[in-house]
Amino acid sequence: MDVINIIEKLYKTNDASKEELLYLLDNIDENSKELLIKRANETRKKYYKNKVYMRGLIELTSFCKKDCLYCGLRRHNKNADRYRLTLDEILECVRKGDKLGYKTFVLQGGEDEYFTDNKMVEIIKAIKSEFPKNAITLSLGERSYDSYKKMYDAGADRYLLRHESASKELYESIHPGEPFEKRRNCLKNLKDIGYQAGAGFMVGIPGQTNEDLVNDLMFVKEFEPAMCGIGPFIPHKDTPLGNHEHGSLEKTVICLAIVRLLLPKVLLPATTALSSIDPKGREEGLKAGGNVIMPNLSPMSVRKKYSLYDNKAYILDEDAEYRTMIEKKINEAGYEVEVSRGDNPEFRK
Ligand code: SAM
Ligand code: SF4
Repeated sequence: MDVINIIEKLYKTNDASKEELLYLLDNIDENSKELLIKRANETRKKYYKNKVYMRGLIELTSFCKKDCLYCGLRRHNKNADRYRLTLDEILECVRKGDKLGYKTFVLQGGEDEYFTDNKMVEIIKAIKSEFPKNAITLSLGERSYDSYKKMYDAGADRYLLRHESASKELYESIHPGEPFEKRRNCLKNLKDIGYQAGAGFMVGIPGQTNEDLVNDLMFVKEFEPAMCGIGPFIPHKDTPLGNHEHGSLEKTVICLAIVRLLLPKVLLPATTALSSIDPKGREEGLKAGGNVIMPNLSPMSVRKKYSLYDNKAYILDEDAEYRTMIEKKINEAGYEVEVSRGDNPEFRK
């Protein structure tokens, strides 16, 4: 086997075997990494040109009933500062986002039982009645089929639920009492209902091997998500994984590029976590095939409270200034901000 041949095969066929992916991860060097990124960038350009889609992120709640070992919002983190946004506050965020030209609103939060199906339906309908053409993405964790269906029928378009790790043992070791099958089933339900479903994983979870990452890449190839969120694990001091190193920028970028080649049309964010570990993280993510950025629209007063990991890139500038600044940075990197909804071309509702 040869790394260059594997990259060219990925580029030409959008496919590779488990063995080839493992060989690539184990043996990639500076030169071959450059080629991988070049090919990923070319592939993105084929379908999306230089466009970078903006999604306005609204962090609904920092309450969570789950206990994921890595996350600062976990139930057992007694130091977490908890908040919930009201419907009025959410609508304020949405209006602010619309003024800035964002056509997708991402409602994300911990698994908070306060946000019942009825409450979510009310929120989704209120947003859609004011902004019928804009897309709503939900990211509220695991819920029942009926719950996902009610929110979809109310007007939600997309749902992000990272699989986090496709290695059953690793997944279950960081999600106490939570079987991987449950996560897989939620993802299947989302797709069956008609959502543009987003999967994704963390790179550099303590104990994760290249074999585990190959499982993630194979899972993504098989599931064919409309979106795929890939970011480095970053420790949070008040969690059981707080003393571990964060995942590397380089490995995350390699995984982004491979996913772009495996799924050429996938919507691939250059995540906040990437920017949080390196000031050049976002640009590196875009270069490797990323085509989505999720600026924060949450009220300034709660941003620090949505603390998933230490040193999160809190954007403390005013949002309009941030919008100008980010557009400038995107343009400088050779890309352009795209203000349309940015659906995955394969998944029209
Ligand atoms: N509760 C929902 C869920 O888990 O899908 C949505 C919110 S959750 C905070 C969103 C994502 O944050 C998760 O999918 C996870 O990958 C990421 N995340 C949480 N803690 C993290 C950490 N310490 N490092 C990197 N990413 C983290
Ligand atoms: Fe809760 Fe999501 Fe954090 Fe897990 S990752 S503790 S489900 S907010």
